[in-house]
Amino acid sequence: LSQEKGQQVPCAADGERPCLTVIVPVFNEKENIGDLHDRMARTLDEYGKSYELLFIDDGSTDGSYEMLQALHGRDPNVRAVRFLRNFGQQMAVAAGFEYARGDVVVLIDADLQAMPEEIPLLVDKLGEGFDIVYGVRQRRQDPLVRRIGSWCMSHLLYRVTGIGIPDAATAFIALDRKFVDSIRLYNERSRYFSGLFAWLSYGRSGSVDVTHAPRQAGATKYNIRKLVGLTLNFVCSFSVLPLRFAAYLGAALIAAGGMALAVLLGIRLLDSGAPALGTWVLAALMAFLAGVQLFAVGVLGEYLARVYTEVKDRPSYVVRDVLDHGDGAHLE
Ligand code: UDP
Ligand code: MG
Repeated sequence: LSQEKGQQVPCAADGERPCLTVIVPVFNEKENIGDLHDRMARTLDEYGKSYELLFIDDGSTDGSYEMLQALHGRDPNVRAVRFLRNFGQQMAVAAGFEYARGDVVVLIDADLQAMPEEIPLLVDKLGEGFDIVYGVRQRRQDPLVRRIGSWCMSHLLYRVTGIGIPDAATAFIALDRKFVDSIRLYNERSRYFSGLFAWLSYGRSGSVDVTHAPRQAGATKYNIRKLVGLTLNFVCSFSVLPLRFAAYLGAALIAAGGMALAVLLGIRLLDSGAPALGTWVLAALMAFLAGVQLFAVGVLGEYLARVYTEVKDRPSYVVRDVLDHGDGAHLE
């Protein structure tokens, strides 16, 4: 790689590793890959640091991989990893971290919502001595529900980790090599990187304002189910509060129920002529209690499911193909 791009400044002393890795998770982004690649290559050639463009194909079925093969064939800076099936963006990022060789790692979405031209902004800011630099989207171009969801997520992140991050989606960020290596140690299956980034970068994060555009082509790869799944992963992997909440709720109900029972008994004993509403009270109480119990069981289930997935110890993702340039420099 370094020989082929001799005019670029190598970062490692041995000249084998590039200064910069750009990780791009790709899931059915055929219409965007070409433009994305051209704009990244133009920007980074001009920027002058050696780089690699690392595409992680997260089980695309639209021919995205064939496009990546073509790009790899004509651009020595392009590498690609292909998953066996769709494992989700978080896993694509995880694989990106494993395969990245650069001293600085940049994450960018394939859909051109972030401007590849702004990659140097993030990298320069990181050079000021941060672990992580967030691209904060100015006037975010996403539907209102998504923006509200992200707003809630930011606040939840803040409550749980005590760290306010500027942009919860972390779609466009730059990370330092040492930071990436510490992130890689956290290889639980229910991974939520925004949470990990905030949790591990305490006081060492910076941000720059970046432009945000509507998706260039195709539709969002996220639906409500995926978003709810992400949120649950985040809450359950960073907090046991929901588990405790069930216990607190139970305790409160026992107290309330006990008192109500005492009051009802008292009324019965003091005033034998009071109207009998017992059946209704009972029915309401039963429905309420059944709900509470199911909810508590559900909370247990969420954690149990996660324990189960961890215990099964399956690989988080399976790689089907790797497109590299055969210099073997990344093998550890
Ligand atoms: N993506 C992925 N796997 C998935 C879903 C999405 O690799 O299961 C990629 C997708 O191709 C894109 C990025 O993650 O590059 C962000 O996805 P998208 O733009 O659909 O999310 P949104 O911008 O709507 O949050
Ligand atoms: Mg997008």
